[in-house]
Amino acid sequence: MAEYNGFEPVIGLEVHAQLLTETKVFCGCKSAYGASPNTYTCPICLGLPGSLPVLNKKAAEYAMKMILAVGGKVSNRSVFARKNYFYPDLPKGYQISQFDKPIGEGGSIPYRLDSGEEKLCRLIRIHLEEDAGKLLHPEAGENYSRVDLNRCGAPLIEIVTEADIRSPEEAYAYLVTLRQLVQYLEVCSGDMEKGHLRCDANVSVRPVGQKKFGTRTEVKNMNSFKGVERAITYEINRQIALIQSGGEVIQATLLWNEAKQAAEMMRTKEESHDYRYFPEPDLVNLVISDSWIHSVRDSLPELPKARATRFVTQYGIREYDAQVLTATRALAKYYEKVMESFGDGIAASNWIQTELLGVINQQKKDIATCTIEPEIIADLLTLVKSGKISGKIAKTVFKEMNISGKSPASIIQKKVLEQISDESLLEEVITEIFDKNQANVTSYRAGKTALFGFFVGQTMKATGGRANPNVVSTLLKKMLEG
Ligand SMILES: [Zn+2]
Repeated sequence: MAEYNGFEPVIGLEVHAQLLTETKVFCGCKSAYGASPNTYTCPICLGLPGSLPVLNKKAAEYAMKMILAVGGKVSNRSVFARKNYFYPDLPKGYQISQFDKPIGEGGSIPYRLDSGEEKLCRLIRIHLEEDAGKLLHPEAGENYSRVDLNRCGAPLIEIVTEADIRSPEEAYAYLVTLRQLVQYLEVCSGDMEKGHLRCDANVSVRPVGQKKFGTRTEVKNMNSFKGVERAITYEINRQIALIQSGGEVIQATLLWNEAKQAAEMMRTKEESHDYRYFPEPDLVNLVISDSWIHSVRDSLPELPKARATRFVTQYGIREYDAQVLTATRALAKYYEKVMESFGDGIAASNWIQTELLGVINQQKKDIATCTIEPEIIADLLTLVKSGKISGKIAKTVFKEMNISGKSPASIIQKKVLEQISDESLLEEVITEIFDKNQANVTSYRAGKTALFGFFVGQTMKATGGRANPNVVSTLLKKMLEG
């Protein structure tokens, strides 16, 4: 607590997650990122007179998945509301959202800090709403802003936490866990750079030991998890400095400026009555039967925490490794595919983490689009385990596979037929010969140099005559004479 000068931060997060449905939440327009501006719009998502919204069932189902995965309660009856405000990227002048009767309430998300400490963040609610459009601000030479309405009506869930978070690091760890969860559920891409996951933070501070919350501000506009952490840190320090100098925190909305590393005042905070919420007259209440809830619950995948625990018991790997391997559903699936035909959980875990992830990260690819089939990794590891190839050769084969796209078998065969000039490889062979013939090594070093021919013969024999004699001769001299 020392770092906050006797103050304790109190933080709540509101995260908007864009649902991965094909179409928007109240119309049939495509919900996609990256299309030409204003191509995915229609009278409904633009709110033209006479148009009527119809709820996308998939959007409701995805929201239910999330609610059930966090142990929340799905409401049998929820109500859509109009949230009224004027903004250039909202042509209707209101946003369809949910207010006092959201689709889900309660639940919690357990998460873990880098130190290993376990934390729990309770959720207040999860509700469904539509997104607004996007303003494109002036580029050099322009004195106007443009608006892209493709995002109008894109389906969102808003996940609102209790003020359970006590530090910027906790906020970061919570967000990482939340992203992992939405990705596992396949309800959201989790891509913060594309705005598919957006976070607003409510921040206040209070003297340690005080029960009552301080006045809070809301910080918006962070576009990375590290940005959220930095913005919250900034705001905590700003509020503490303000209070210590005799000032008072004013309830307000601040925009994070990543370039300046500072939060700027946007407006003093509006209350919910400023939005004049009222029930959306064009949509009936959302009624969800218990049987629908049950069928969605049955469709939930194994969640990351449960999967990591199972990996520890089933494959005998360490908890840390299990967490790395279950970081994404695609990676966990990959590991399990390798394990279907290879029995050594630890060897597979090590290989995937160091070799495979190493190459993938280097190539800036990801496991979901990785072209190296898990079966091939299993074959390679089996060859190593059975002693047919050394671990070193396996790594060489793997590297070549990545470059040429050839199968390991063809690479190994090619290597077998080739003359061996690879020094490090021959060094391995010679070291083995030395180990088996210690007495001769000692004699040679004591002056019986005629034994040199013996070592050359052994090396040629061990490599099936494929060793490059010049390299062998140079290496042997070096290794025998030190
Ligand atoms: Zn539309």
